[in-house]
Amino acid sequence: MRAFFHPDQRLHTPQQFMRAGRLAAPQDVPARVDPLLAALAGRGIAAERPADRGLTPALAVHTPDFLDFLAGAWGRWAALPNAGPEVLPNLSPYWNGTPGTVRPPCRSASVVAQAGHYLGDLAVPLGEASWTAILASTWTAAGAAEAVLGGDRAAYALCRPSGHHARADRASGFCYLNNAAIAAQALRGRFAKVAVLDIDAHHGDGTQEVFYGRGDVLTVSLHADPAVYYPFYTGYADERGVGAGEGANLNLPLAPGTGDDGFHAAIDRGLAAVRDFGAEALVVSLGFDSHAADPIGLLKVSTDGFAGAGARIAAAGLPTVVVQEGGYEVGVIGDCLGRFLDGFGGV
Ligand SMILES: [Zn+2]
Repeated sequence: MRAFFHPDQRLHTPQQFMRAGRLAAPQDVPARVDPLLAALAGRGIAAERPADRGLTPALAVHTPDFLDFLAGAWGRWAALPNAGPEVLPNLSPYWNGTPGTVRPPCRSASVVAQAGHYLGDLAVPLGEASWTAILASTWTAAGAAEAVLGGDRAAYALCRPSGHHARADRASGFCYLNNAAIAAQALRGRFAKVAVLDIDAHHGDGTQEVFYGRGDVLTVSLHADPAVYYPFYTGYADERGVGAGEGANLNLPLAPGTGDDGFHAAIDRGLAAVRDFGAEALVVSLGFDSHAADPIGLLKVSTDGFAGAGARIAAAGLPTVVVQEGGYEVGVIGDCLGRFLDGFGGV
């Protein structure tokens, strides 16, 4: 399996995020990359540097006003009197729009207003080099998608920062641009029906929203029950899509403490939906924060549990782009990826 990673993805070095009313140490540290690269190297895979594709992959999924904000916010923020080291919102705007549609651009040109508009929570700080890393992460997803479009059975995108919480016009949950949605949209260039299977511990709310009104991309997410876990507001089983997308969204919430058996059963259920949908290609949002050792996790999946996940997904027999999402225990995520690849098989 070919794999992709751009060295600029290390440049995003978040300093803080809000947790239970306190600014806490960041979880998405650049050191997450090293065990993942080591797992690849241990299996004879050298990650390839993806081509610089500018804004093209991002514009396939995201609004221009949102990308303008991400690209320029830090410089404008740094010019504020008494600015902190990172862009972080102090506003929480409310928008009573139709699900599956995109908001109008922010009415105000103030970077303070726009930080509230485009940054959905306090887990997406923007530092001086964040944009460079965010953009490179989209190129990594696009590179893996291009390999599969070119005939590879599967490809792995070592995306960081992650993407599945990012909406068309909003960052949240350590995610800025939606790498999995970018890969799925790219696969649509060749495949009429594409599915996204999200097995990160958190609901893939951004991916769901990007495709919520569309019938050509099925989104399936299995995750810890949002009634007690981030992102809280979405991820429930009754969210099935709207309009042309009615029936093309499936959420499989898992009880806290769910281990390998429940995890695998949900993957089987998700893959059955992928098959019934008639998907011709698959994007896997692969997170390791469902591991029992994850510092912000609620599930109890074992390291070997990811081998079972890989085997099941490979058995679906679809051209597959695997996109890295979360997983914050640096001591186990390399083994999790290694076991996933072992289960998937040497392709
Ligand atoms: Zn996650």
